Amino acid sequence: MASGGRKRKLIVQKYGGTSVGDISRMQNVARRALAAQRAGNDVVLVVSAMSGETNRLLKLINDITPGASEREQDVVLATGEQVSVGLVAIAIQAAGGKATSVLGHQCRILTDSTHSKARIQQIDGTRLIDAMKQGHIAVVAGFQGVDEHGNITTLGRGGSDTTAVAAALEADACEIYTDVDGVYTTDPNVAPAARKLDRISYEEMLELASLGAKVLQIRSVEFAMKYRVPLWVKSSFTDDPGTLVCEEDASMEDLVVSGIALDRNEARISIRNVPDQPGIAAQIFGALDEKAIVVDLIVQNPPIDGKSDLTFTVGKTDLAKATEVVKKLSKTIGSGEISTDQDIAKVSIVGVGMRNHSGVAARMFRTLSDERINIMAISTSEIRVSCVISSKYAELAVRSLHTEFGLDATAKKPARKAK
Ligand code: ASP
Ligand code: MG
Repeated sequence: MASGGRKRKLIVQKYGGTSVGDISRMQNVARRALAAQRAGNDVVLVVSAMSGETNRLLKLINDITPGASEREQDVVLATGEQVSVGLVAIAIQAAGGKATSVLGHQCRILTDSTHSKARIQQIDGTRLIDAMKQGHIAVVAGFQGVDEHGNITTLGRGGSDTTAVAAALEADACEIYTDVDGVYTTDPNVAPAARKLDRISYEEMLELASLGAKVLQIRSVEFAMKYRVPLWVKSSFTDDPGTLVCEEDASMEDLVVSGIALDRNEARISIRNVPDQPGIAAQIFGALDEKAIVVDLIVQNPPIDGKSDLTFTVGKTDLAKATEVVKKLSKTIGSGEISTDQDIAKVSIVGVGMRNHSGVAARMFRTLSDERINIMAISTSEIRVSCVISSKYAELAVRSLHTEFGLDATAKKPARKAK
């Protein structure tokens, strides 16, 4: 959003569904926004639908038909945020402040026409700037957009985060308020010794978000990284400073591993005796791609007598579809038995420090082997190592790795501190 020559600081605050889950919580949001304004800032609020509302609307749609047109689904789903912005604006006014609600098409948050996962192309901030010039808090509907033909679009689940980042391109701060007080080293429900990070780099956050850490929508992190928008993840219920998601700096590399993620949403498919010839992998994964099935880890054993075993993982929800594709294909290519396993989990360690430390993967494998946990598949990126293991050992694996890499809250190693 253009700054419009303002002198005051511009703060974008985004409140998620639980933070606007009922009227008293909306009044709390109103108080916080007014306090930020009173402290001398221009304030843009971005709000989500009240918690549970988007799911409720989805259920109504699915009660009619599971195959509803995506255009109409967006018309229905976008209403959750319309209710929230109106109520939050009313709460601010009732508390003696000035506020104007602004819907996606009023802003105007221009997106492409990919309903249910539209991408933001441009925001015209004039309306928000005008509101702020009059001393109003602009209360913007998250998640909503409009395409060039005037159709209502939505930005995908968790999309209000991306609305907030897009609105904050020229803001002095972008604060994402949620029901946790920041980004944790791992899920505290799995490892009670998990601790809050003071800072984390965009790249690490992207890896963690794509591994299932749900605190921020992946696209919002990509957007923030691209435009260098520093993001604060904070609790709307406390005054904790939260976690800053920002550009990487040298001090971040002191910590080899900054987070551990657990993903239970994948399933394994193995195909035995796949002919070891050029073009076979292209056929298998091409056929899966045609059905829009996303494949994650792939492992191929060295061939024996011209045949090798192939193992890969897909999302659990795609397992039936993927198995069907592979079964059909196995007749054509002449491969053997197909087996599947849903009781798997993917455990990953993430950290920019891995770039400059050797032996990190070996340390992870050693830790798992000390717990007698078998590794079924491995994949790595420059700042991540992931292992697929049996789901019954998932929590044990996370806790052991958390301890091994010095992340426990009780560990002596200093936490990554804000500069
Ligand atoms: N209301 C939408 C959802 O539940 C968008 C959001 O909350 O960010 O996914
Ligand atoms: Mg969210």
